[in-house]
Amino acid sequence: MKIRTRLIILTSLCILLSVSIFVGLYWLENQHAQLFKRIEDIGRIEVQTSLLRSQFHMHERYNDSDSIAKATKVQQSLHLQLNKMKFEEGQLQTYRNSLLRLNNSLSSLLTKLQEVHGADYPGHLVLESHHHLMDRLDNTILSMSEDSFKLATLAQKITKAKTHESMLFIDALLLSLTLMISLAALQTLNLFRSRLNTLETGITKVASGDTDYQIQVSDNDEIGLIAGHFNQMTQSLKESTISIDELQHEVEKRTCELEQQKEAFKELAEQDSLTGLANRTTFLGNLSSTIARCKREQSSAAVFFIDLDKFKQINDSLGHNAGDKVLIETANRFGKSLRLNDLIARIGGDEFSVIIEPLHNVHDAGELARKLIKCLNKPVKYEGRELYLNTSIGIAVYPDDGEEPLELMRNADAAMYKAKKAGGSDFHYYSKEMNQNALMWMQLEADLRLALKHKHLEVYYQPQFDIHSNSLIGIEALARWNHPEKGMIPPDQFIALAEDKGLIHELGSQVLEQACNDAKDWRSSDGIPLTLAVNISPKQLNEANLPRVIKAILDKTGFDANQLELEVTESYILQDPEDAIFKLQQLRDMNIQLALDDFGTGYSSLSYLKRLPLTKLKIDKSFVDGIVNLSEDRAISTTIIALGTSLNLVVIAEGTEEKAQIDILRKEGCHQAQGYFYGKPQSASELAANFLNNEEKITEKV
Ligand code: C2E
Ligand code: CA
Ligand code: CA
Repeated sequence: MKIRTRLIILTSLCILLSVSIFVGLYWLENQHAQLFKRIEDIGRIEVQTSLLRSQFHMHERYNDSDSIAKATKVQQSLHLQLNKMKFEEGQLQTYRNSLLRLNNSLSSLLTKLQEVHGADYPGHLVLESHHHLMDRLDNTILSMSEDSFKLATLAQKITKAKTHESMLFIDALLLSLTLMISLAALQTLNLFRSRLNTLETGITKVASGDTDYQIQVSDNDEIGLIAGHFNQMTQSLKESTISIDELQHEVEKRTCELEQQKEAFKELAEQDSLTGLANRTTFLGNLSSTIARCKREQSSAAVFFIDLDKFKQINDSLGHNAGDKVLIETANRFGKSLRLNDLIARIGGDEFSVIIEPLHNVHDAGELARKLIKCLNKPVKYEGRELYLNTSIGIAVYPDDGEEPLELMRNADAAMYKAKKAGGSDFHYYSKEMNQNALMWMQLEADLRLALKHKHLEVYYQPQFDIHSNSLIGIEALARWNHPEKGMIPPDQFIALAEDKGLIHELGSQVLEQACNDAKDWRSSDGIPLTLAVNISPKQLNEANLPRVIKAILDKTGFDANQLELEVTESYILQDPEDAIFKLQQLRDMNIQLALDDFGTGYSSLSYLKRLPLTKLKIDKSFVDGIVNLSEDRAISTTIIALGTSLNLVVIAEGTEEKAQIDILRKEGCHQAQGYFYGKPQSASELAANFLNNEEKITEKV
């Protein structure tokens, strides 16, 4: 049975008990009232009887009719009282009837007495009858008095007995009701307590981790239902969690994995992942220890800064795989050439560093550097090609060239730069002046930022000619920087600096805008607008918004896109040919012409060349230089011309300085040429003066 039902029953029993007590009390009250009424009634009869008796005695004494009349009145009133009386009980009714009968005889006796005392009776008869009647009257009144007394006693007895019985019944009823209630309450309490105990034990067990425990409570009441839900919950909890053993196993597994990862990270943090050599951080840490040791032992050490020459070219033209192969091979060869004590590390893209300790003689460092350069002499084989490597090495010596790790590295770097500048494939010892060189570069960068901010860069223009008609057909825009103190700075220097320091986008935009403004109205002698060729750096092409930037400049300057030719280098294409095809197509879709600059210096694949949306090929100056005297250069130039023509591209030769070169190029079918022979790059005003309105001067030369 449900607890709710039990509680309802208990409450109902309590209500019943209260009602019973109320009804019992009411009934008892009623019983009392009845008893009092009876006693009152009987009392009244007694009063009447004693009144009658006194009346009777009065008459006896005075012997008058007045007393009889009074007695009759009392008798009548007694009659009325008796009539009014109603009893349910038989015995009482019997006594009442006897009283009524006595009263009737009393009435007839009184009537007779009145008759006796009437006038016609003879005196002796009157007295005789009078005494006779008086005796009977007395007897009747006496028996009435006795009867009324008996009636009162009986009524009292009966009422008492009835009340007693009813009281017994009510007592029994109330007692049994109370008993029932107590029993029901006790049972409910007990049940409630035991079920709560079971529930609590179960919950405690589950809470302590025993998810297998099931609370055994029949589900026919609310606690049973709660227990059922709890069991379900424990079950799903068990299904969704894993055991302590499993958990422990999992924790151990994870800890092991983490340890392994930590080891791997540590190795990664200390090692260069490609070559397996120490990395920059480890190298600097080792260098610190070396310096500390040298300080203690008053000994010397040398730091090498090694940079591969032309590594970028290999990486750009043959891809990262080729670059990686070269780096791994270099690391191996260096490793074999060094002593076990020497530490070698890869500290950047194609940069390596070595610590030589102890260094007994400064010349030993030079000897070792020479050995390292020599070990790269043998070409590296990659996909059937032979890649020739060169390296430049800078040497800084502790304590002469620095006493801090970074200082030694910086100075070795400066020495390496010197070796590279001098043609590469060599080593150089650090000297104090080299630092000034580095400072100079920093100063130059600051100056370039300022020049760009104030738009101080200029644009020079080099004319381009149709090699057959000798007519001016275009111009190439070339950036110029006239430094306030250093004078003209060659673009090779500041363009590389701008690319390195992220300034090339601003520089390229300024040059393009300036050139578009200048060349807007320039035309050939036939009145045809001149093509304006502008160089675009790979870094600019890698910027996704380049087409938008160019469009904005064309819109701003009003320059016709058809007239614009952008020059991209072969090395840019080789970085990611598919991406280059996509990006160049975007520009071609804007009607801009596209020339491939420095053609022949990279390793362009013919299949890509076919798919690139180009309009022009530029034969690199290095081939044009030897075209007259070197048969290979002439063969390459001829091939490029034939290739360009077959691909429907215009072929232009750059760096033409002599008439003989022009003659050969013309003969081989080259379409256009530019170079000092025709004209050096010059300012807009010079170009206007020299070429735009000066037909004779040109034809005179050719
Ligand atoms: P480039 O595009 O191959 O430009 C041709 C270079 O050869 C120019 O050098 C030019 O002055 C030089 N030159 C032309 N004809 C002759 C000749 O007959 N003999 C000799 N010896 N040299 C000749 P410049 O102006 O010093 O430019 C060097 C490089 O700087 C350019 O090579 C180009 O790659 C880059 N450059 C110049 N201006 C810009 C520019 O505005 N933007 C970008 N991204 N690169 C530029
Ligand atoms: Ca160019
Ligand atoms: Ca070029």
